[in-house]
Amino acid sequence: METSYLKSVFDARDLPRDRLPEIAVAGKSNVGKSTLLNKVMGRRGLAKTSRTPGKTRCLNYYLVEPDKSKPFYFVDLPGYGYAKVAKTMRRDWGALIEKYLEMPERPIGLMALFDARRDVDAPEQEWLEWLHAWGRPFLVVLTKSDKLSGNERTRSLQRWTRAAAGVEPVMFSSVTAQGKDKLWQWIDDVRLAVVRR
Ligand code: GDP
Repeated sequence: METSYLKSVFDARDLPRDRLPEIAVAGKSNVGKSTLLNKVMGRRGLAKTSRTPGKTRCLNYYLVEPDKSKPFYFVDLPGYGYAKVAKTMRRDWGALIEKYLEMPERPIGLMALFDARRDVDAPEQEWLEWLHAWGRPFLVVLTKSDKLSGNERTRSLQRWTRAAAGVEPVMFSSVTAQGKDKLWQWIDDVRLAVVRR
């Protein structure tokens, strides 16, 4: 599998025009998104694991070629929910992300990351409801599952399944690789369902 960083897009005019399938990845800062992307792409350090607020207001494109014939993009949406950026920046960033998500030819699916240890609070609940209304495939990924006991995992799954109105999440750990196969199964289902445009 070949993977590479393509570019960071700060303005919708700079989005790639090659019409490859795009899978968006979103999650609050520190949820384990870079670590997950590196694990899934099999490239340690490809997605940066430390981010400064100035570098969060863009879409980060990674080209993934699981086999040469069907490349696709992971589109990292960093800073979603990032509280440290200034208010005006947050507004601009929100506008770009919303515009992007509504583009009919852009993301064919979205992975929404949540820390498996966390409770579902109002913003997360709203985000999940928005994703349902969005109408495209999405996957709820519960990160850092290795930090939970067996019982806690069961409770976390129940909690997040309820919050996602019955859509079962995938438990993921970058340490044990739990969930990696399920994640790839979902990615393959989604990307192979689209006829190359
Ligand atoms: P990001 O801000 O969402 O990109 O988060 P990072 O990928 O930088 O991860 C934040 C912190 O959580 C880092 O210290 C990681 O080492 C840690 N982390 C990420 N994924 C896991 C995981 O699956 N298990 C454990 N135990 N720690 C993790």
